[in-house]
Amino acid sequence: MMAAKTSIDEFKNLLNSSNRILALCGAGLSAASGLPTFRGAGGLWRNYDPTSLATPKAFQRDPVLVWFFYAWRRHLALKAKPNRGHYALAELAKKKDNFLCLTQNVDGLSPRAGHPESKLRLLHGSLLDNKCFNECGYIDRNNLSDPVCPALAPAAEDYPSHQTLPLLDPNVPVPSVKTEDIPHCPNCKTGLLRPGVVWFTESLDGEMLSEVNDWVDQERIDIMLVVGTAASVYPAAGYTFKARDKGAIVVVVNPDADSSRGLTPRDFFFQGDASEILPQLFEGVIGKMDEYGNIL
Ligand SMILES: [Zn+2]
Repeated sequence: MMAAKTSIDEFKNLLNSSNRILALCGAGLSAASGLPTFRGAGGLWRNYDPTSLATPKAFQRDPVLVWFFYAWRRHLALKAKPNRGHYALAELAKKKDNFLCLTQNVDGLSPRAGHPESKLRLLHGSLLDNKCFNECGYIDRNNLSDPVCPALAPAAEDYPSHQTLPLLDPNVPVPSVKTEDIPHCPNCKTGLLRPGVVWFTESLDGEMLSEVNDWVDQERIDIMLVVGTAASVYPAAGYTFKARDKGAIVVVVNPDADSSRGLTPRDFFFQGDASEILPQLFEGVIGKMDEYGNIL
């Protein structure tokens, strides 16, 4: 199999002459910001498989437990900072009119890096959105309160690194909190609020997906960037396939060598961390970036 290209200079020329660009980002984009992903390696939260807490059924059964899990993830996401990869994509979005970035990440770091909202789609929602579990339509976007409510404060405490947050110790019982004391919907007054992320067994927002499909179908796509996620796994695989069909050259940025699978000699593969590679790749369009993500 012929390998994809790896020349940064060649990519810079391509980017300069490109108009329509589609990006799809996954957990690898936020890796340098230090957020756990819960994928692979059997990561547990207390004694729970995190995927067993990320369903409507789990929330119905024990909303307090599920809220503690999410209140803790919100706390980590709010403590984390966007990295140079987020800033580089945000800057590229400001420079290129026809750039659409899809992210699978729910950590809110791309919006916090100033990525223009009109050029960003949060495929899996956001940890920082709270919406009505009764589906009355209420949604509170970008809620930055930490803790999300006083009763969930034990999820938002900071401990010295040699100690464990009691909430994370399976031998310490989950603090007893009444259902009345977790967030309720101010609109219908009967529903509980839940994290605005897409849970297992739920489908992605249909309106958003059809809008993305319309964008993809409109006209030729010059570049499809796949950042920190496997291009051969859905949904990335679906978008990569469609973008290729519209003429796109596929560009994969990922530390994992396996993620270059399926690339052709006209594509590009850059092996490494997005926070280091993206600022280099986009430099010709966005300018030089310092270590904090500021354009010099
Ligand atoms: Zn409601």
